[in-house]
Amino acid sequence: MLQTHTESPRNDALAADARKRSLSVVIPILNETRGLPALEQRLRGVLDSLGRTWEVVFVDDGSTDGTLEALRQLYARDTRYRAVSLSRNFGKEIAVAAGMRFATGDGVIVMDGDLQHPPELISGFVEKWDQGYKIVYAQRRSRDTDAALHRWSARVFYRIFRLATGTELPDGAGDFRLLDRKAVDVFNRMGERARFNKGLYAWMGFHSIGIPYEVEARSDGQSRWRPRQLLRFALDGLASFTTLPLRIWSYIGLLVGASAFVYTAIFLTKTLVYGVDVPGFPTLVISVMFLAGVQLISLGVIGEYLGRVYEEVKGRPLFIVSETIGAGPSDPQKTARAPERGARSA
Ligand code: UDP
Ligand code: MG
Repeated sequence: MLQTHTESPRNDALAADARKRSLSVVIPILNETRGLPALEQRLRGVLDSLGRTWEVVFVDDGSTDGTLEALRQLYARDTRYRAVSLSRNFGKEIAVAAGMRFATGDGVIVMDGDLQHPPELISGFVEKWDQGYKIVYAQRRSRDTDAALHRWSARVFYRIFRLATGTELPDGAGDFRLLDRKAVDVFNRMGERARFNKGLYAWMGFHSIGIPYEVEARSDGQSRWRPRQLLRFALDGLASFTTLPLRIWSYIGLLVGASAFVYTAIFLTKTLVYGVDVPGFPTLVISVMFLAGVQLISLGVIGEYLGRVYEEVKGRPLFIVSETIGAGPSDPQKTARAPERGARSA
């Protein structure tokens, strides 16, 4: 998928056209009733100042705290605040995917609903977008608002990810970004269940640029991610971008085979030169246990991948919409379905 980027110097007519393009803001939310009014207020200020048509698509990811009711009231007051309610909690990555399918704008902004992503940055996004960038992402300067363990594990993960996949994830870039319609359409064609959005954005390519920002403290409560979910997410991210864990076992097998060969040679010479040696019982036990361990680990890795293949092959819908509030195309079932197999490679 090669893209050429020739659109740097735009003429005035094109620039005027660019300013007419509409915007959608996709916001996944899980139990954020309390933060919602402040979010709405700041968003409105920024979006109105841009002088374009806009809509906000909230994705209620199975909230249990009256978020849905609050979204209904919001829509009743201003029909540009639309919402999609998922039938249960599908996780943030899938919630974002759902929002993207319902967003109708020429440019789509994705942001968190906890005000950690300052809406004021959107005007900067739009400016870069008008200059011709297809993806504009916010790049956090520090991770000070995260817990120490979270910070450390994130660092380890990014290092492993870079080494294993060869895909460089821009430092501190997250979901907070603007995608041009072109990128949104590509994103919508990716029907995989194990979603790692950051990786998908990087994989897509396109002319991209980062804007640095300072993450704000959460408007309410704590991170909605549980540690177990984060670990699962990290594994999904790796597994969906590299098959290195599968391939590595051939090399390990080769190494073990070669050392067995060397050991045989040493053992033979020893026996021939010095006579019969005392049988090495501990060596035997240790090597049997070591090999059994290696084999079980490799089986486990194959199982991890096989499980993922199974999940994908079932081809269930990525998400289930229980209710739409003024949002998107009229046939949500159609949009919610994963793309046809043939379409994926097209
Ligand atoms: N979120 C969601 N579904 C989930 C978890 C989180 O829609 O299963 C939303 C959440 O309401 C928030 C955004 O995703 O708007 C980011 O979540 P959070 O702040 O908990 O994550 P963090 O900032 O720690 O990455
Ligand atoms: Mg947050």
